[in-house]
Amino acid sequence: MEFDSVWRGKEREYPRLESDIVRDIVVIGGGIAGFLTAFRLAEAGESVTLIEADRLFSGTTGRTTAKITCNQGGVYAELFARYGMSAAALYYKSQAEGMRRFANLVQRYSIACDWKETDSYIFSHTLSHRLESARRVMERAGAACEWKTGADVPFGAACALKLGKQYLFDPLRFLSALPVGFEVYEHTRAVKIDAEHKTVQTESGTIQAKILIVATRFPVVNSHGGYFLKLRQSSSYVLAVSRKTEGMYLEEREDGLSVRPYAGGTIVGGEDHRTGRTAGGRFKNLEERAFRALGVTAEEVTNRWCAEDVMTFDKIPMAGRYAKNLGGVYVVTGFNKWGMANAMVCADILRDCILGRENLYAALFSPQRQIGGSLGAFLSNAATNVKGIVSGYFGMTFKTAADIPPGSGKVVRYQGKRRAVYRDESGKLYAIGRMCPHMHCELSWNGDTKTWDCPCHGSRFDIYGNILSGPAVKRCKCEAADADKNDGEDKGNGTV
Ligand SMILES: Cc1cc2nc3c(=O)[nH]c(=O)nc-3n(C[C@H](O)[C@H](O)[C@H](O)COP(=O)(O)OP(=O)(O)OC[C@H]3O[C@@H](n4cnc5c(N)ncnc54)[C@H](O)[C@@H]3O)c2cc1C
Repeated sequence: MEFDSVWRGKEREYPRLESDIVRDIVVIGGGIAGFLTAFRLAEAGESVTLIEADRLFSGTTGRTTAKITCNQGGVYAELFARYGMSAAALYYKSQAEGMRRFANLVQRYSIACDWKETDSYIFSHTLSHRLESARRVMERAGAACEWKTGADVPFGAACALKLGKQYLFDPLRFLSALPVGFEVYEHTRAVKIDAEHKTVQTESGTIQAKILIVATRFPVVNSHGGYFLKLRQSSSYVLAVSRKTEGMYLEEREDGLSVRPYAGGTIVGGEDHRTGRTAGGRFKNLEERAFRALGVTAEEVTNRWCAEDVMTFDKIPMAGRYAKNLGGVYVVTGFNKWGMANAMVCADILRDCILGRENLYAALFSPQRQIGGSLGAFLSNAATNVKGIVSGYFGMTFKTAADIPPGSGKVVRYQGKRRAVYRDESGKLYAIGRMCPHMHCELSWNGDTKTWDCPCHGSRFDIYGNILSGPAVKRCKCEAADADKNDGEDKGNGTV
């Protein structure tokens, strides 16, 4: 069994930045959002440089399930309730347009990426008002969707919303085949960003830009925009099984099953939760649900992986100016696990904003929009952040390393301090600082992925404290005397 997604391993390699440079437009983050934005700007004749902390598409884009579909179920119910029918229908239109643009690019560049047209189903085990509301919005926007009950419903569910002519693809083969008319630096993490002066400090050189685009999934600049209050990250777990299936399916609930075929079999995702909040057992639950739904067995599981995405309160992504009073800095984030069509839509919005062109969707996706009816969600998010910070500074524990079973991690008293400590199966201990360097929330152990995850903003670290996922830009230091393999360089300042 491989502990990685089925997509990775086909990417081109690019050099690391090795000097100070001056550039026009700099995109920070090489996932689908940053890459397509750079691509669209380069197509329009702009000179663009993209920097990526690790390898291109090594973040969520390399671990997605890659359905390109307008059939996003509950999203429409949410938009209808908050903003009314016309905004919900406009969102539908944006997704249909994003989808069409993918199809056009596949055709224009003859990209071999297992592009496949298929039916999409959102199903529910209860008679769901959210799905019915989604159906009304989609029909009003011109979608030929069908309401299914009885024997026609997949997985023995109560009802389903079907939409034909949706797409599946291999996202990394698609992205890797697009012409790269811009400069790319990999292994180049932005460790400090001066948003006012548009200076980006990396571990191996400084970049002076005219325009900055922050496409790091969760925005890494804390000094403007207040994104750390407006967003949260949600983790999902994914399996690949060798059994072939047809069609794409999504269960209408927060941790619902997502199913799609791919060249080597079928991908099944689910068990979503706010990053940093899990008691473990997610892969086991997912396997049990997948076995029940598809009739597969443990021997057919070939891959397992986990990934996270950024969630907004109103389910619409954010693409536009980073902050009202900050000229020349842009952001793209908050795809709510619908980042394929949305990345295409947002890339066009950013290109149009930067080039001073009109864009039909710019207001709907504006990071400065008034997010209606979100007080409850805002307060709950703020409370989680405060709790994480307070327990980081004032939390107590009387537990010691002796309380950690093999193969597990805990925040315990170790060598005179509270530390995040992992005990491997042979009994060896690995200790790191227990506070996330991003905003000093206390980390929590994820037994499924064997990572330290931040419950506030979703940064994730391995057992040595290396960053697996931002917004942290600094690794989690280990101060324990006997901790080995934890001596990487540490040039960031933890927050930008
Ligand atoms: C399990 C799962 C399944 C999904 N399935 C679907 C689906 O079927 N359909 C759909 O439409 N959407 C889906 N999504 C959502 C979609 O995959 C994501 O929204 C999308 O991939 C996010 O792209 P991104 O470019 O914003 O982020 P990422 O791909 O994470 O890219 C951000 C990049 O920024 C880099 N970075 C971070 N910090 C720095 C820094 N300081 N300096 C330089 N670089 C930095 C990271 O290394 C990373 O490569 C799914 C999401 C998940 C988690």
